[in-house]
Amino acid sequence: MKTVRDIDIKNKKVIIRCDFNVPIKDGKIVDDTRIVEALPTIKYCLEKDCKIILMSHLGRVKEEADLEKNNLAPVADRLSKLLEKDILFSEKTRGEELEELVNSLESGDILLVQNTRYEDLDGKKESSNDPELGKYWASLGEVFINDAFGTVHRAHASNVGIASHLPAAFGFLIEKELKALSILDEPEHPFVVVLGGAKVTDKIGVIENLVTKADKILIGGGMAFTFLKAQGNEIGKSLLDEESIDFCTKVLKDYNDKIVLPVDCAVTNEYTNDEEYRLKDINEISSDEMGLDIGEKTVKLFEETLKGAAIVVWNGPLGVYEFEKYKKNTDELLKYIVDNNIKTLLGGGDIVAAATTAGYKDKVYHASTGGGATLEYLEGKKLPGIEAIK
Ligand code: AMP
Repeated sequence: MKTVRDIDIKNKKVIIRCDFNVPIKDGKIVDDTRIVEALPTIKYCLEKDCKIILMSHLGRVKEEADLEKNNLAPVADRLSKLLEKDILFSEKTRGEELEELVNSLESGDILLVQNTRYEDLDGKKESSNDPELGKYWASLGEVFINDAFGTVHRAHASNVGIASHLPAAFGFLIEKELKALSILDEPEHPFVVVLGGAKVTDKIGVIENLVTKADKILIGGGMAFTFLKAQGNEIGKSLLDEESIDFCTKVLKDYNDKIVLPVDCAVTNEYTNDEEYRLKDINEISSDEMGLDIGEKTVKLFEETLKGAAIVVWNGPLGVYEFEKYKKNTDELLKYIVDNNIKTLLGGGDIVAAATTAGYKDKVYHASTGGGATLEYLEGKKLPGIEAIK
């Protein structure tokens, strides 16, 4: 893996693609984790006396009205505070003003360029990797460092485009993610996968890729009900992903010994946190009930299956974790994993959010921040932002 350590950057103009896609409300940054995580690569480039050009996307820009709310300027202020130094900011993503700022850079200066997706207003130039745009941005620097893991599953002008025109390497954040995820390339056994979340459709690729490698796949969350339906169970008003029933039937037939489904669940009549729930065995769900979490017997069953696991990969919460009542079993299983020191990789947005709230995020082997990128890695897909540099 070629990282920023392996490339000559001393005194050079270095473009770093960061992931500064932070939540901003009324012009204020609500959570600066992503900015903080970008600091090691930026600081390393400062130590090497680089002239630093930072680029990032922020949100989606589809129409004029999206420009102001996705203005990257607040990130420049936050960076300035975190690094205790002035940060130059270019309001424009191309043109004279930007070029003058780039030309004015001295060693140790940092320039943040406006949201790369401002270019999407003009025929999606950033998101469709417009060749002219990637070439133009590359012309501003001498070396390219990609440190934005969250977008490596997309070929954009600001990652793949620039990388095609400059000597390029990965930053420390991408290095950390790829190293952690590489335990799945030749996983130690027993290797157990935990899947939850809403729809089977979104996880078909992950199941197909991991079912041959894993010893067991534990399935909870809304998606379990489509598997249970495929087995012939009454699932009442529980989440059903009709179009995936055939897929579930086939997986259950081909990998019967590997798939572990819930044996009980917490049911109510409405999708709300306000009603009291009842614990029911799976074969007791009636037509007017819906399952919003796995049950206590299932927690025990999952814990027994996880016992002694060498590696666990977990994507998706096991219940409607946004509701206080239905997050406790996801939390309990996270606790089991942490208490038993089971090497666990949490892959993707919702389970990482659940682990963060419950205080387990920093106690697991790795919590992958990539969302879509992590999911595509778990699907075994090649990631364009990685391939372009490899
Ligand atoms: P995903 O993005 O596929 O990981 O799905 C996460 C979503 O799945 C969360 O918003 C949960 O509320 C939802 N979810 C988990 N369990 C259930 C369930 N039993 N019924 C409905 N939704 C669920």
